[in-house]
Parts: sequence; C-alpha cells; structure tokens
Amino acid sequence: MAIGDRKPAKIAYLRRRLLEWYKRNCRDLPWRKSRDPYAIWVSEIMLQQTRVAAVVERYRVFMARFPTLAALALAHEDQVLALWSGLGYYRRARMLHKAAQFVAGRHQGNLPATVEELRALPGVGAYTAAAIASIAHGERVPVVDGNVERVLCRLAGWQMGSRKGGAALKRKIGELAALLVDPDLPGEFNQALMELGATVCLPRNPRCQACPVRRVCQTRGEHKTPPRPAMLSREVAHALSVRSGRNARKPRGLVHREVLLEQRPASLTVMPGLWELPLLRDSAVPQEHLRMTLRHAIMQVNYDVRIRTVFEGDVERMTIPGGQRRWVPLRAAAEMPLTGLTRKVLARARLLPAAPLKTIAPQRQPNLR
Ligand code: SF4
Repeated sequence: MAIGDRKPAKIAYLRRRLLEWYKRNCRDLPWRKSRDPYAIWVSEIMLQQTRVAAVVERYRVFMARFPTLAALALAHEDQVLALWSGLGYYRRARMLHKAAQFVAGRHQGNLPATVEELRALPGVGAYTAAAIASIAHGERVPVVDGNVERVLCRLAGWQMGSRKGGAALKRKIGELAALLVDPDLPGEFNQALMELGATVCLPRNPRCQACPVRRVCQTRGEHKTPPRPAMLSREVAHALSVRSGRNARKPRGLVHREVLLEQRPASLTVMPGLWELPLLRDSAVPQEHLRMTLRHAIMQVNYDVRIRTVFEGDVERMTIPGGQRRWVPLRAAAEMPLTGLTRKVLARARLLPAAPLKTIAPQRQPNLR
C-alpha cells in the first residue's frame, strides 16, 4: 500500500498521520514560535548545511541583535559576519544582509509573500522561497530539502544516489512533493515532512517502527543511504601574538591588550574578508612552544590545529605573509568578523569570552521612518 501510486485515499491518510504526528512530536525550536517571515527567513538560511544544534543559540543571539529586517539592513556587514562566526558558509550571511538592504530599499522593508517575488531577492533560492511562502504565508508549495528527498524516495520506492537519471529523479520528487502538500496547512505539512526526515527517517538507520506513515511506505527501511566519503585530514599551525597597547586618547594612556590578526584576501573562495591568526611557516611546533592543539572541521576537511605563542619581534620571521595585518584590542576583536577557528582559539586562550556572541551588545538602531 505505497504512496507511489498516488491514490487520493492514501494521500489523505499520509497528510493526516503526518500532521498529527508533527503536532505531538515536533522539536521545540525558537523559530517555530514565530510566523514572522523575517524570522523564518533567517532560520532557513542558517539551517542550510548546518546542524540544528549549532544554529539554535546563534539564531537567538542574531535575532536579539537584529530583531527586524530594518535592523539587519542598517547594520554594517562586519557586524553581521561577527554574529555568523562559527556557522560557516559566510556567503549566506553576506547574501542575507544584501537581500535585507534590497527589501528595505525596494519593498519598504516588507519581505515579499510569494515564491515568485521571493526568488527575485539576492541569495534566495527555490528552497528558501518555498519555505518562507508556505510557512509564513500559507502558499501551497512544496519544500524539498535533502531530508524530504530521502523520505519521498523511500515512501515511493525510488533508489537514490545514482548520478545517472539524477535530474529525472529530482523532477519526480518535486512532482510528488507538490501532490502531497496539504492544501490547508502547507507550512505545517512541509515542516512535518522535514522533521520526519530529521528525526525518524534517518539516512542510515531509519526508525520505521516509530514512523507515522509506515503503512504507506514502499521500502520500510530497505533503502539506506550509503555512508558519506571520509573527511580529509590536514595539519595547520597559527601564531598567537598578544601585546600590551596604550590608548593615547584615554587619561593616563590606559593599557589594554591587543592581538595580531590578519584579514583573508577578498580573492579567496573560502571565508574571504574574515580575520584570523597569522599562519606559521613551520607547522611542526615543538612541544615546549605549543600553546594549544585543537580540531576544527571546515566543509569536508578536519584540521589538526597547533597554536604557538609568538612574540611581537618574531612575527615576521615565523609567519607567512598573507592579507593585511592589524593589532586589534581584544574588546574590538570580539566584534570583528573572525573565522570560527580564530574565535575558538581566542576563547580557549581566555582572550575572548567563551560565548562571544552573547556579549555583543545590541546597538541602537535608528528608526527607519
Ligand atoms: S517507514 Fe521507514 S523508510 Fe518508510 S518513511 Fe517511515 S522511516 Fe522512512
């Protein structure tokens, strides 16, 4: 009794079971408490390629600092990137910021309501547009992310994973998703399907016994997603240089500490424009000079990172020249667009607060009107 034959009774059954299940089992996530299109937009962008657990706290801080689209549009890009630190894929933050400015300028600050209009915004693709339109405005459109693709393929008995026929399969998935979406509650239905994929119909070990739509599933656990290719490993070493600086404008030249940071060139494809610790020429740091070691993952690479304390006079000799360098007061560094690794190192060295995002105080935003 699989859903692949598209019988109306089965479709009605699937909608009802899924929506009932979602009502009882959906996770308590901050963006689900809001129907504000802006809040949904921010959450959807943050969730792309990023685990829910990593997003929750950053989402709260981001929304506290930029509670409205107008507040985001008026911010400086560096402030936006600083709050994105650690989420990775910084292009998302830049595009979100650009799109907010576009909406503030062209749409009087109101996010468009339909998929078609939303698609015209910078950085808003089919998935994000459909999510905003269905969840915030009740437009009857399907939302198809990786989880939904997997669930629908299993329900219909289609094999995923082969490159051959990939486009045709995607088209079939899109058609089935459009057919299934509940006409009265499209936003809830879409979220329910994504939630099922995230919590029950898991890639390697689907929990079919707990699945509310088991009765109409063709495969019931037969199709397992092959394990992902192993991550690559790399070694890298950075210099941590801290000095005492004087603030000439303060009475009696108050002493503060400064850290040496380097800006990644704008021409780079990964994290252009973000600030990081200078790279050491020699990644083999002797044990006695090791300040700390840590592991850090960026996309498909696991980095074994070594951090060495380097005195100001040795910086030139021991590090590889990259982008422009600057001695930055630690308080100011907390608000800069640092790479996630740099923020982690400075926090671990107790040079930044461990949860820096919480400490970035909201700024007063001028009233747009
Ligand atoms: S029965 Fe199993 S394979 Fe089918 S949709 Fe439910 S969890 Fe996925």
